[in-house]
Amino acid sequence: MAECAATFAVLAAAGQARGWQEDLYRDLHQHPELSNQEHRTAGLVADRLGRDGFEVSTGVGGTGVVGVLRNGTGPTVLLRADMDALPVKEDTGLPYASSVTATPTGGGDAVPVAHACGHDMHVTCLLGAAHLLAAGEKHWSGTLVTVFQPAEETVNGAGAMIADGLADLVGPVDVALGQHVAPLPAGRLAAVPGPAFAAADCVRVTVYGRGGHASMPQSTVDPVVLAAAIVLRLQTVVSREIDPGEPAVLTVGSIHAGTKANIIAEQAELQINIRSYSESVRTALLAAIRRIVTAECAASNCPREPDFEMFDQAPLTDNDPEVTARVTEAFTAALGEDVMIAPPRVLGSEDFSDIANGVHAPYSYWLFGGTDPQTYLRAAAEDRLAGDIPVNHSPRFAPVIQPTLDTGTTALVAAALAWLAG
Ligand code: ZN
Ligand code: ZN
Repeated sequence: MAECAATFAVLAAAGQARGWQEDLYRDLHQHPELSNQEHRTAGLVADRLGRDGFEVSTGVGGTGVVGVLRNGTGPTVLLRADMDALPVKEDTGLPYASSVTATPTGGGDAVPVAHACGHDMHVTCLLGAAHLLAAGEKHWSGTLVTVFQPAEETVNGAGAMIADGLADLVGPVDVALGQHVAPLPAGRLAAVPGPAFAAADCVRVTVYGRGGHASMPQSTVDPVVLAAAIVLRLQTVVSREIDPGEPAVLTVGSIHAGTKANIIAEQAELQINIRSYSESVRTALLAAIRRIVTAECAASNCPREPDFEMFDQAPLTDNDPEVTARVTEAFTAALGEDVMIAPPRVLGSEDFSDIANGVHAPYSYWLFGGTDPQTYLRAAAEDRLAGDIPVNHSPRFAPVIQPTLDTGTTALVAAALAWLAG
């Protein structure tokens, strides 16, 4: 297989890249930046891409960086990494742990910041893969596009890069690929065709009653009673309206009304979060929210229709089956037959598919393990995975550097060459 020979040829230089990659990873880990504030990270990325001969564009969609390496005729492969960290106080005890604090975009008090989702690992793997592919350019032909995206955690960085003209900047793309480090054994990969990460939507619902004195309810429309009825009725959406075989979540995460025991409030606000694996389930959930809220407002005799505002929306990550089969084949050829493990079902969300859809390319997004394999095996044997293994966004989450870094780098190289060396 031509791709396979090319992969081993390109990866022959991996040993020389490992040293600077590990140093860079520790440096990024110690200097995390919040969403839309990834200035230092973007600077390091742009500098390294420039040295590797990429055409570099900075400030794409805010702090995004794009590197393009044109290497003759052939397909265009887009590889994406996200760069942002989280407002989390790191508690890993690592010598390179973060003690950074920062003020969130939009103001407020300073918060601790940590790479609790592993995006520093994503950046380091992609810079390593970019370097290796650039150094080994005689083994492939086509165009390599590397996208370093800001603000994944706030689910608006990918959309911002598309809105800022990413598609025009990079031209036609044949395939878009990306990966996320996960609490799976380091050295292993997991890829699924079809839905891999859930779509997420938040809805802010405002219902309007008529305020008044607590002693005279007959002259009011009480939005607290109304909101309570809505919360309970919404619990029937997943249990009574959605196919039991379809994953779906509907959570009322926030509810606010009133100021004082003896005042009936004017209005109530509910914040609802939904997760779905298909557009039909998503549409059904949103329609049910609208129908139930509107009907409960009518039942309460509200003087005014409710308001609905959508926010913090993440698209479905729906892996192309052919692309996923091709990357899986490349992974096993590069890393061995047993490198793939069955992935857990994830109802978390990602905005990677906004980039892929924005450049009109089929895509696949896979997981790579970051947990020490021995620790993982021990916890699995004792059925203590859920309690013992820190997951993404935990203050104790940090991948072991190796073999996580080598595996993530190799996966990107092998996947890219499945098209570029074909
Ligand atoms: Zn995250
Ligand atoms: Zn993440």
